[in-house]
Amino acid sequence: MKAIKRNKLARSTIQHFEFADVLTNNITGEKSLHATKIFQPNDIICNFSAVITSHIPTHLTLQVALHQHIVLAPEFLQFTNHSCNPNVFFNTTTYELIALKEIYKGDEITFFYPSTEWNMTQAFVCNCGHKNCLQNIRGAAYLTKESLSNYRLTDFILKMLLQ
Ligand SMILES: [Zn+2]
Repeated sequence: MKAIKRNKLARSTIQHFEFADVLTNNITGEKSLHATKIFQPNDIICNFSAVITSHIPTHLTLQVALHQHIVLAPEFLQFTNHSCNPNVFFNTTTYELIALKEIYKGDEITFFYPSTEWNMTQAFVCNCGHKNCLQNIRGAAYLTKESLSNYRLTDFILKMLLQ
């Protein structure tokens, strides 16, 4: 609890949206998305769409096919950070953002990057703090089927795993 409280104090709200606020970490400048409403598992939080579809991924795009990476609309969804214990899922078949578990007001909204990304251009070391943190996040291509079985994955990633 103490750690959570400290984190909250170190963040300032910079933007309000219909179901979430964008917060910025006062020290690192990192932005994050936090729920302002309660969601139940399987709730459709919102629909999303592609503002731009590109064959070049960036740290802000979501992969929808082998050479297709989208820039999200609504734009603030780009602040959905990675967690190895995610609470949302981007369904890139139906273009729905789905709650994976109960989400309370103030919770950071996170997704599992390898649930959409096959081979990331910008790998990173995760420090989400979850007991099963996978640490090296490079995309689904680098994870075992056993690790991935703990997560909801897009149809695109499921198709790639069959190949
Ligand atoms: Zn992690």
